[in-house]
Amino acid sequence: MSFCNVCGKEIPPGASFCPSCGAQVVTSAESVAVPVSQQDTMPLKKKSVMLATVLGFLVAGLGHFYLGKWKRGGLWVIGALILWAMIVYTSPSYLLTAGLIIGIFSAFDARKTALKKYS
Ligand SMILES: [Zn+2]
Repeated sequence: MSFCNVCGKEIPPGASFCPSCGAQVVTSAESVAVPVSQQDTMPLKKKSVMLATVLGFLVAGLGHFYLGKWKRGGLWVIGALILWAMIVYTSPSYLLTAGLIIGIFSAFDARKTALKKYS
């Protein structure tokens, strides 16, 4: 007796598609286990990568802290603070632009770090 690995409904012997949800039937127990575990972890990975990116954009280094990369996150915080201080002293009118640029780079790096961590 086999069960659909998508909806869990019983599948009649010899059927190649689930009568309930239409998903393709995977017959061997080994190949059933793989898609199920992928389904469980894939959305979490995607969510974590996205969250790290968003956090990195909001606060430089925060995305790295979320990923547990304390050293790299710390460097981002220190780097961003130094940049902020420099901009405040030299050209305060560029604060918003600079903040956006720092956020984008921090987010990009957090995303790269997250993809490496979860690959
Ligand atoms: Zn099904």
